[in-house]
Amino acid sequence: MKRLPLPRRDHLLPAALLLGGLGLAVWINLPVMGRVFDGSAIRVQALPTLPAFHTGQRVLILSPHPDDETLCCAGMIQRAQAEGAGVWITWVTAGDGFEFDAALTQGVLRPQAHNMRALGAARALEARQAAQILGVPADHTFILGYPDRGLARLTTSNYARPYTAPRTAAAAVYVPGALTPNAPYTGEALEADLNRVLDRVNPDLVYAPAPQDFHTDHRTVANLAMRLLAQRHQERRLRYWVVHGGVEWPVPKGLHGELPLTIPPRARSLPWNRADLTPAEVDRKLRAVNAYRTQTRILGRFMRAFVRRNELLSPGMPDPDPIPDIEGP
Ligand SMILES: [Zn+2]
Repeated sequence: MKRLPLPRRDHLLPAALLLGGLGLAVWINLPVMGRVFDGSAIRVQALPTLPAFHTGQRVLILSPHPDDETLCCAGMIQRAQAEGAGVWITWVTAGDGFEFDAALTQGVLRPQAHNMRALGAARALEARQAAQILGVPADHTFILGYPDRGLARLTTSNYARPYTAPRTAAAAVYVPGALTPNAPYTGEALEADLNRVLDRVNPDLVYAPAPQDFHTDHRTVANLAMRLLAQRHQERRLRYWVVHGGVEWPVPKGLHGELPLTIPPRARSLPWNRADLTPAEVDRKLRAVNAYRTQTRILGRFMRAFVRRNELLSPGMPDPDPIPDIEGP
């Protein structure tokens, strides 16, 4: 029997280096390769496409913070208007709770209340610029100006008693151009403002954050939207989007306009529609993202990861099974 020749010792080092190099390359590209090989791109491609909009349709986007409307929906906003629908945007807060952002953009070590209010005013301005880039008229935008990272408090402990936001020291709406200037930071006032918007817009479709979104402000807006529309017997008009989708989603970070946006892990249980963007729509979405100059300096890689060849929008939960009546005492 002929013995196989043993590998020569001087071949081992190059082989080990080659294997090591390959391993490093796989590790560095793991997010990209994972996305390609776990079938998530294929799953997105198999999703039903977003139904067309029609002339005269009224579409309202509820955005907890300035930038959410662009991250989730800039392509859909362009599409809806191109197909003859009207789009309205409501920002619930001015995004005035991000201290690190205020420190960096205003060059201060410890931002004070006036720095945080200046950040809120700047973000409100950026939001209006982003809307303009997306073709949404100024009179179709509303900024409510309730406290960033404080919405859950308004709907619980501070439904009737004003909440004082720790970062801005504000207990009432201060943002220039707000829908109701000086409205107290209460759940009652927030609901009244949202009802005012619903009355004014009378939307056929309301795009709200999904209750699965990781951010507490987003989940609070989701719950408010469900409740207020249910009171109007209009819950079927609700649609959902996700921005904080969990497990580092979306991967990879940074600008990859040619890649698909995959299904957010936290909201896998929702049905999803895919809205494909044209290259021109992708470009305009990027311009709208870049309008958020106070945000992109810190969160640019996260924000630009939403600039993809598609967006994902949920038609909402399927109707639950009817709850059986309980008989007897
Ligand atoms: Zn947000």
